[in-house]
Amino acid sequence: MSYTPEEQPTIEDTAYLIAPQWAKFRLDMLRSFPSPYKNERDSLADGIEDAIRQLDQLKPEKNGGPAYLGTNPALTIDFEDIKDSYLSPKMNTSTEVIRQVIKLFEGLPNWGHPLTMCNVNPQGNTAAIVAAVLSEIFAPNILEGEYAWNTHQAELESGGILANLAGWEPKKSGCVYTYGGSGCWTYHLKYALTRVLPDSRKKGIRTEAKVICSQQAHYTMLNSTDWMGLGMDNIIRIKTDVNTNAMDTQHLEEVLRDCRDKEIPVASIVCTMATTDVNAFDPVQEVRRLLDNYPNPEEYGKVLLYCDSVIGWSWIAFKNYDFKANPLGFSDAVLPYLEKNYNAVKGIFYADAFGVDFHKTGFSPYISSVFVYKNAEEFESLLSREVQAYLQPRSPYNPMNYTLEVSRAATGSMVGWATLKFFGHEGFQSVLGGILENKVYLQSQIAKKLEMVCVNSSDYGLVTLLRIYPAGVDAPSQFDLELTNPDFREELIKHNKLTHAIGDKLFEWFRSGKKINGQHTPYLSFSTGFRMAEYNRDLKDAKAVIYAIKMFPMNVYITPEVMSHALNCIIAARDEVVLSIDKQSVLTV
Ligand SMILES: *Cc1c(COP(=O)(O)O)cnc(C)c1O
Repeated sequence: MSYTPEEQPTIEDTAYLIAPQWAKFRLDMLRSFPSPYKNERDSLADGIEDAIRQLDQLKPEKNGGPAYLGTNPALTIDFEDIKDSYLSPKMNTSTEVIRQVIKLFEGLPNWGHPLTMCNVNPQGNTAAIVAAVLSEIFAPNILEGEYAWNTHQAELESGGILANLAGWEPKKSGCVYTYGGSGCWTYHLKYALTRVLPDSRKKGIRTEAKVICSQQAHYTMLNSTDWMGLGMDNIIRIKTDVNTNAMDTQHLEEVLRDCRDKEIPVASIVCTMATTDVNAFDPVQEVRRLLDNYPNPEEYGKVLLYCDSVIGWSWIAFKNYDFKANPLGFSDAVLPYLEKNYNAVKGIFYADAFGVDFHKTGFSPYISSVFVYKNAEEFESLLSREVQAYLQPRSPYNPMNYTLEVSRAATGSMVGWATLKFFGHEGFQSVLGGILENKVYLQSQIAKKLEMVCVNSSDYGLVTLLRIYPAGVDAPSQFDLELTNPDFREELIKHNKLTHAIGDKLFEWFRSGKKINGQHTPYLSFSTGFRMAEYNRDLKDAKAVIYAIKMFPMNVYITPEVMSHALNCIIAARDEVVLSIDKQSVLTV
């Protein structure tokens, strides 16, 4: 017997009446727990349907609506007092709680909105979102077979598909879903430390082993070395090439030689496979060659080679694409770059492990990152722990014996797996290629505006970076001087400040619901130094770096009109900032 959301309990009303109060509350709860039986009018199905309708009401009108949810873009939390909160003495209804949950979404960025172009965080695809929600309902726990049962297939099959894409033997490889690209980094470090310093599992890390990555590597290297107990000072950062921003292998070799001469063990080398802002791919094959020439001293294990490919991984879906016949019909402007990105990322073949963020270039919800390793036997035995007495192995697959986490929700693995099943090769190719087609369009529009210049036209990542100057300035030649000529350092810094102010202005406009030409303004972001000036290669001068406005035309709802509108908004923001600077300087004169 169960109750509909509207009904009061109907079982033997007298029984209800004479029940002790706690039992009455439990009966009331039947209306707020999903039914375990089929064909019941279920609080869950009703709750979800109702919640999605309410969320839908927060979405904007189709044409010209803002890129945030709801009508109030302001931050409304009372940060002073919010922590002064107590558990309510009364029980609530789930309907009421869901209403309160919906309210928290007010003002949130609408990731699927075409005006949202702030970062590599596209909206999730429907199959993945639904897969995530379903795994929250029946809550498989992929720590071991008994609680995961057939849902384990999602992790096992993801590992196989990704290993195949990398060109590895799928049956000998494996993967674990974990908490983000930073979790993947941490997994690699644990793997490396265990391999290189086998004693460290019991005795702790007592040796200053090094982790080597490039100057462009993601800052999560700090989290991982810190939390693993290796220490942030044990990171060695390799210089990058001024043009490609990739790891300079000559410098890498110097560092490896130095470590060898001093008998310092190297735990791992990390190749970043696509950085957020400049799409730099480190040369894995060459790194592998060097690494084999500079083995660790005998008493230590073999250096691990990890690809932090959490952004770049999905270009691997171009494996087997016929770039000559071009069956999907990509434009001539885009085709060579698709091939370039694919050729760069396919180097993960040479790695021992690589990381995948489905929430970035997999168009999936958080958290669905996966650490993929080539040698499952090695990884799983190196990290294995004794089986706990209170859980019995009920299937051949029990990753809790070697994972960082104990309980792991199946959510991430379901999301990743559903996404792989949904896109297939052609889906990934189209969604990624489409971003580059958008980028080509953006560049053509930027080129038409004298005072704007695209500052990353030679890389074909997901972001378009641009600088805008005061009206009348010839942006391409001004930028060229600022990039290459130390005499223009002061102007570079002045225009960096301008870029910063325009970026802030655009954010303020987005957050205040400002309209330009009758439409809301875009949600963009900016970089305070996506690269250094050419004369500042060793980064000795913290100010001689290049600021730029960032646009990520990623999501599938983006149109040429939206992109043109966004550029017009950047110009309008520039005008307003320049005007206010002029006013200030008049005042200070
Ligand atoms: C985003 C990113 C990370 C961190 O990943 P999270 O999923 O945010 O934890 C690490 N490395 C690179 C290259 C990234 O782009």
